[in-house]
Formats: sequence, C-alpha cells, structure tokens
Amino acid sequence: MQSVRGLHHVTAIAGPAQENLDFYAGVLGLRLVKKSVNQDDPGTYHLFYADAEGHPGTDLTFFPWAQMAPSREGHGLSSEVSLAVPPGSLTFWASRLQRCGVTMSAPEVRFGQQVLPFRDPHGLHVALVESEDSLGRTFTPWDGSPIPVEQQIRGLESARLVERDLVRTTSFLLSAMDFTHLGSENGWNRYGVGEGKSGTYVDVREMPTANRGAWGTGSIHHLAWRVDDEAHQLAVRQRLSDGGSRPTLVIDRFWFKSVYFPEPGGVLFELATEGPGFGVDEDPAHLGESLVLPPWLEKDRTGIESVLPKLTPPRK
Ligand code: ZN
Repeated sequence: MQSVRGLHHVTAIAGPAQENLDFYAGVLGLRLVKKSVNQDDPGTYHLFYADAEGHPGTDLTFFPWAQMAPSREGHGLSSEVSLAVPPGSLTFWASRLQRCGVTMSAPEVRFGQQVLPFRDPHGLHVALVESEDSLGRTFTPWDGSPIPVEQQIRGLESARLVERDLVRTTSFLLSAMDFTHLGSENGWNRYGVGEGKSGTYVDVREMPTANRGAWGTGSIHHLAWRVDDEAHQLAVRQRLSDGGSRPTLVIDRFWFKSVYFPEPGGVLFELATEGPGFGVDEDPAHLGESLVLPPWLEKDRTGIESVLPKLTPPRK
C-alpha cells in the first residue's frame, strides 16, 4: 500500500516579514533557503527556512501577512509545530530563548521525550523536542547559523491537530493515509507512518466543545507530506480520491510538486514531492539571498519588488 514518507514541510502565517526572519534565522538559526512570493498573492512573501541544503523534512515556511488578524484557536486546525533538536540540547535552547526574550512554557515530557514549548513573535505555538532518531530525513548543518552544529535544529519533529470529532480524522489517517496508532497520553493520540520516527507522526486531540479555529497570524496554514516523486504522488492522490477526498490537481511549485486536500476535520494537508529541490533555480551557495519568482511573474518583478517590504539580514 502506498503511503506518505513523513512531513515534507509545514507552512504557517506570520506577522511582519522582518520579525519572522529575525526569529527563525536569527534566534533559531535556520537557513533562509528560499525568498519567494505567495503564488496566489504575489504581494506577500513566501519565506522558506530549513537546514543548509533545504532537505524535505527540515522545512518550515511562512506567509507573512502583517495586516491579518491573529488566528482563532479551535478545532479544524493544526495547533503546534515541533522541531527536533539533539538529545541534551534543551538546556542550551532554554537559556538562548530566555536571553532572546521568547515566551516559553514549562518544559514537558511527552511520550517519553523532553519538550520545550514556546510562542514565536506572532503567537505561533512551537515546541523543541529532544529526538534521538533522524533516520526519516537527511540533515546538513548550516555553517552560517548562529547556533553551534551540536545544538542545531535537525528538522520537523511533528505537529499537533485539534479536532471536533477524533474518529473522523483518525479513521481517515488509518485508512486513506495508512497511518498506525502509536499511543495515547494525556488526551493526545499519536498517529504516524511505520514506527512513527521523528518527522513521521502527528498528535491529535478531540475538543468537541471548542469553537471552529480560523486562520490568522500565528496559525499553521497546512501540513505537507513527502512523496518520492510524481508517480508516488499520483498513486497516493488516487487512493485519497477513492476514499472520498477531493484532492486538487498536481500544481507545479518548481521546487516540488503539490496536491492539496483537507482531512475530514478541516486541517489542510498537501502531498509534496522530494524533488527537484531548492537548488533548481538558485546557486546552492546563495540560497535565499535574492527574490525568486515563478516564471509567469517575472514580467511583474519591478512592481512586486516595490510592494514587498525590504528585508535585511537577521541580527545574530
Ligand atoms: Zn505547502
């Protein structure tokens, strides 16, 4: 049975772009691997942060919609993204985040792992998770990062989903996505691919009395799942269709190909191919340094550049 491999990227909505860059590149030390625009709203940036080479599974991306209202927490949304850090590194991270004035919550243990939850400058719930295994993705350290290699973020660990009806979502994950139930703890139910290694699972919670959540600054927009190539993508897409979903046609994002569909509770999912990757239209040594536009927007470059806020390198 064809299933997805794990998380490919997570996309969220941010406030002002410079603050987003200062936080994810400057404070967390990720590499800005692509500076582009939202292909449906080219007056807005689309910023991609990842490891040094932009490997699938390490990529956290943002639409900075500074004028948008804050998100409304509730069901039908992914409520937190977590990032994998090496075992023993949370002491380093707690003192760094404190020094940078980040709002942290008390450390937690989830399913036996050490977790440090915090909010980014625009309210997004993020957690750093000490994670042993990194077999599910490739990681290349970024030597331009302010974070020493031993402590650098290794990639996406997981995401949390809040649902009105647990069974609708989890039966979809089990049947259409071929996930396995990996455990339950404190109201959270873990589902993932295979054994559920780092980057290959989500935690789902039922909150039947919560309001419907709504996108806004500080919310996760969608979770993208990795497929090997276009043939794999089409096979998974067919399976979703057969299961009653209505996935979009394949959309060419140039760095990967995408198919979108909502899971039954309303969280937007995507299938994204491994390749060709962020080096396809930029020198890998200079990823993210200049504005990359999809070909059909090149003729509008001057106008687009004039409305996008100027970005300066993050303070480290
Ligand atoms: Zn996406």
